[in-house]
Amino acid sequence: MLKRLEIAGFKSFARKTTLDFSSAATAIVGPNGSGKSNVAEAFRFALGEQSMKSMRGKRSEDLIWAGSHSTSRQNRAAVAIVFDNTPKKNGRIFPKLDFDEVAIERAVFRDGVSEYSINGSKARLRDIQELLASANIGETGHHIISQGEADRILLAHPRERRAMLEDALGLKVFEFKKQEAQRKLDKTEENMREVEAIRRELAPHLRFLGKQVEKLERAEELARELAEICRTYFAIEDLYLKEEKAKTERERGESKERLQAAAGELALFEERSTTDSEGMKRTDAVRSAERELERVMQERSALARDLGRAEGALEAAKRRSAQVAESPYVKVAREDLQALKGEVDRQAGAVEGAEDLGALRAALQGLRAAVSAFFERFVNPNEELLAEEQNAVYTHQNEYDALLKKDKGLQENIEQARTLLMKAREAQIAYQETGREERHRLLSLADTRAHEEANVARTEARLNELSMLAEELTRDKAEVVALAGRNALSYEALTSLPEEDRKTQEDRKRMLERLKIRVEEAGGSGEDVRTEFEETKQREEFLAKEIEDLGHSASGLRELISDLDTELQKTFSEGLAKVNASFSEFFGLMFGGGSAKLVLEEPAPIEEEDEEEEEVRPKNERLGIEITVNLPKKRLQSLMQLSGGERALTSIALIFAMSQVNPPPFLILDETDAALDEANSRRYGDMIESLAKRSQLIVITHNRETMSRAGILYGVTMGSDGVSKLLSVKFEEAVAVAK
Ligand code: ATP
Repeated sequence: MLKRLEIAGFKSFARKTTLDFSSAATAIVGPNGSGKSNVAEAFRFALGEQSMKSMRGKRSEDLIWAGSHSTSRQNRAAVAIVFDNTPKKNGRIFPKLDFDEVAIERAVFRDGVSEYSINGSKARLRDIQELLASANIGETGHHIISQGEADRILLAHPRERRAMLEDALGLKVFEFKKQEAQRKLDKTEENMREVEAIRRELAPHLRFLGKQVEKLERAEELARELAEICRTYFAIEDLYLKEEKAKTERERGESKERLQAAAGELALFEERSTTDSEGMKRTDAVRSAERELERVMQERSALARDLGRAEGALEAAKRRSAQVAESPYVKVAREDLQALKGEVDRQAGAVEGAEDLGALRAALQGLRAAVSAFFERFVNPNEELLAEEQNAVYTHQNEYDALLKKDKGLQENIEQARTLLMKAREAQIAYQETGREERHRLLSLADTRAHEEANVARTEARLNELSMLAEELTRDKAEVVALAGRNALSYEALTSLPEEDRKTQEDRKRMLERLKIRVEEAGGSGEDVRTEFEETKQREEFLAKEIEDLGHSASGLRELISDLDTELQKTFSEGLAKVNASFSEFFGLMFGGGSAKLVLEEPAPIEEEDEEEEEVRPKNERLGIEITVNLPKKRLQSLMQLSGGERALTSIALIFAMSQVNPPPFLILDETDAALDEANSRRYGDMIESLAKRSQLIVITHNRETMSRAGILYGVTMGSDGVSKLLSVKFEEAVAVAK
């Protein structure tokens, strides 16, 4: 799977050097300090190693060829690992990349910047890591064992050991998926919070608009009711006034005719009696009494008009006064509101422009004064205004009372004038030497005349009253149109009055007046409130839906994370069991018996005071991993008591066991065999061979036995120029170079 490694400018490899790995096991040999370990580090580097320490450097610069007396330094170190990605039985090793060869390259510059690429295209470290994880090449470097670090896994912290094991088991892929899902979940939850916040902000506005719309609808309902009742009332009233007027005019006409006839006949009698002076005198008395009666009657009918006006004025004053005293609504003229706004703007400008606290205070006081003055004037009308309105009521009442009194006086005057006239006429008749029959006729005529005169006066007063009622009706109509719209007038004229008491119509009028007040008080806002309400409601519904959708995807993601957790848990415990089986087997092979095992740490005991917070302990707590060993014929307390060789054997057994379960594409072992005696070297060699069947092996070694198992041998040498050079060597040459 590993085809070759290309090194250029990296550490001691000043010049471009290529290592081909066409064999299952490749050995790198050479004298101390020639640059063998640099090859292992080149692998680490290209795979994205971030720890400088594990590449034996302090800064990035330490990774770049530093130059020597004969070869100048480089500014860039680059290493490429080339994999064979041709499809095999289980597909390509990098299934996501549709190329037969995959080159992962990393370059570093003196300023410390690293560049990654996959097949020549720039990539992020994360892309490289995900790609490698998919091929079971983890970040913890469990498959690259550095020189002297063979027992790193024995010395590592249980947690770190677990990380290496998880890496070897290929759990990184799940981990990446989990991180991705978690990131999406965080983003989704943040979105949810944002949408919730907007929705919370919207809620009071929506409530306010809803109330406005309700108010509007109530006002509309009342206006409809008003229009409905008005249509009936107006239709009846129109016809009633028309019929009453016609009837009264007819009555007046008839009375006038009868009056005229009686007056004409009486005049003839009078003519006869004007021949003598006594008779003339009596006739004059009658005439002047008649004139007096007419004058007083005219005066009264003039007074009736004044009375009507005074009554109207009084009613209006009463209404105004009641409004000032108790109305919940305040009518404020537009210009007064504008004046208030102007003043508030002006003072607010002063507040904004205020440079010190004094100016700020003054401006704020001005602001408060303007608002309270407005309030005093309109919202809390002062006593003066109230007194003014009450005074007006008083004055109008007085005027009305005086006119009423005068009318009463005039009524009495009319009665007196009528009595006087009657007496004068009787005297005249008595004077005239007439026959009994004639006198009787005269009396009857006089009676008719008085009666018809009264009738004419009555019908005229009634006509006067009717025309006032007609005016009032016109006013009512205008008012109702303003309150309830023109459709209050869309009724058909009646052809006959309904059979009902006049009182019913009066009740209607009272109801109508009450409705008028209620409509006025409801004072609905404009139509645009409804539009705004609808729009806001739609927006709210949209947001609610959005939250629901987000909630769905959040729970989907949570489910995914929990599924991944379960899968992780399962793969891990299965993997652990397999590694343990292998570990014991390799261990037995190496030591000729005994056993070894990886065990999960005991969970830390929960402290007393934490007891209530039981949930604090995560369900899938990642317990570290301990190693227990049982050497044949020895009783051992701790790993630390093992000899150097035993430690090397144990860790080799473990490393090999781990690579058996989930074989990485390659395994690099840098002098892992250094501490082995001859017998163990042979066993080590056997294992290398069996391991090489599943992973490509690159071993850096001074060990002859190990060299003998490799298909390809590279010799590394370093000349006086400090540059590492590579050459293919035969086994015999290798042995010579090594020792
Ligand atoms: P041994 O068998 O003793 O372990 P080795 O063959 O593994 O030795 P390395 O440790 O790989 O040797 O090589 C170390 C050499 O690399 C040293 O001579 C060191 O000076 C050289 N070297 C390391 N970094 C640079 C660099 N940036 N520029 C030039 N030379 C470097």
